[in-house]
Amino acid sequence: MAKPTVAIVGRPNVGKSTIFNRIVGERVSIVEDTPGVTRDRIYGVGDWLTHEFHLIDTGGIEIGDAPFLEEIRQQAEIAIEEADVIIFIVNSREGVTSADEEVAKILYRSKKPVVLAVNKVDNPEMRAEIYDFYALGFDEPFPISGSHGLGLGDLLDEVVKNFPRIEEEEIDEDIIKFSLIGRPNVGKSSIVNALLGEDRVIVSDIAGTTRDAVDTPYEFDGQEYVIIDTAGMRKKGKVYESTEKYSVLRALKAIDRSDVVLVVLNGEEGIQEQDKKIAGYAHEAGRAVIIVVNKWDAVEKDEKTMNKFEEQIREHFLFLDYAPIVFVSAKTRKRLTNLLPAIQKVSENHSLRVQSSILNEVIVDAVAMNPTPSDKGRRLKIYYVTQVAIKPPTFVVFVNDPEIMHFSYERFLQNRIRDAFGFEGTPIRIITRQRK
Ligand code: GDP
Ligand code: GDP
Repeated sequence: MAKPTVAIVGRPNVGKSTIFNRIVGERVSIVEDTPGVTRDRIYGVGDWLTHEFHLIDTGGIEIGDAPFLEEIRQQAEIAIEEADVIIFIVNSREGVTSADEEVAKILYRSKKPVVLAVNKVDNPEMRAEIYDFYALGFDEPFPISGSHGLGLGDLLDEVVKNFPRIEEEEIDEDIIKFSLIGRPNVGKSSIVNALLGEDRVIVSDIAGTTRDAVDTPYEFDGQEYVIIDTAGMRKKGKVYESTEKYSVLRALKAIDRSDVVLVVLNGEEGIQEQDKKIAGYAHEAGRAVIIVVNKWDAVEKDEKTMNKFEEQIREHFLFLDYAPIVFVSAKTRKRLTNLLPAIQKVSENHSLRVQSSILNEVIVDAVAMNPTPSDKGRRLKIYYVTQVAIKPPTFVVFVNDPEIMHFSYERFLQNRIRDAFGFEGTPIRIITRQRK
């Protein structure tokens, strides 16, 4: 289910990243944990009451070397384009500035709900200072303190109230939704066009065209697919569209709505840090993943080149060890026909349910082969294992004491389950619980 998106807007130093961190908390993601991948905490997932949402700190999206005012204007545009609700942050200590008015004007023209937050209201006596901000033309301003964590509950109540009502999206389990993600120019739109056999993806920027209108239904060999639009597939010529961080944002949203994600690499250029970051997001979201190496026609090669490239991929994408690799050329159409069957296969694995009795036999055999870990004289006992979810397949291991479970043993069980049932192309999750 697609989560709503909340964007934080405001000029520098009003406290955007402080508030972002408060809302998202300290969850460390695999992407951030991957060596060589720099943290940029501008996208995260927050939750409030029963709602989960994407949170963007637009302050972290740099627009080349645009002057200050142009940059915050662009950031406000991104918020309008991408968010369902916008949190506009101002600084109580400085009153209304001309840059605030500038941002307000842009936000005001959009029809997106805007919640105005007056930050750095660190104590109740300061609450009187928020009244100046009515001048910005929005509803009641919310006094908050990012550094003290005050007022955030009321603010988020208001944000959640403005979420679009989710129409029960018609979910047809037989349709496979997939998206292509990757750096700009790796060939995502070329692949889609080659699959479709015509130039259907690049649509013009007709006012009022909704985002979802560019999802493309597609049928092949009796299987229905929907190709989810991603960054770079609609070229509209907005300044910020070519920035790296904006394309990451578009990728995240596409991943969210997909069953299968094709991580597209450029065979000509090799693997780059941004590729890892993007791939990490697909893995974390629990989607089925295929690694597609495009532009293979342009690579000078001998009989070892493909193996070498595969080794490099395995080395750099350790967390994607389950993802099959397909080498293609959108230009010559070479091996493109391998893509759809691969998508179908990993999608099946992504929603595979295994039989409990067989699962537990596999676990018993695994434990016989490699005894469970022990700690301070106590040995881990596994009582039974059960599959609790699909997309991705998720297993709960019931034990005497979860504290004794070791990461490496969890990993071992995961591999045994993989060996026994396949699961190529899908992450699987293991949760260790104490048997009551
Ligand atoms: P950003 O540029 O809008 O992302 O702002 P930051 O989150 O980096 O904050 C700018 C400065 O304001 C930092 O020194 C923060 O510690 C400080 N700050 C943030 N929130 C508050 C607050 O609620 N009260 C006070 N007094 N300072 C704050
Ligand atoms: P996107 O930004 O990822 O959607 O990339 P595009 O599909 O727009 O392709 C970027 C450029 O790479 C274009 O000039 C394409 O013609 C070129 N290109 C795409 N696929 C291939 C391929 O398989 N081989 C070669 N040689 N060029 C390709």
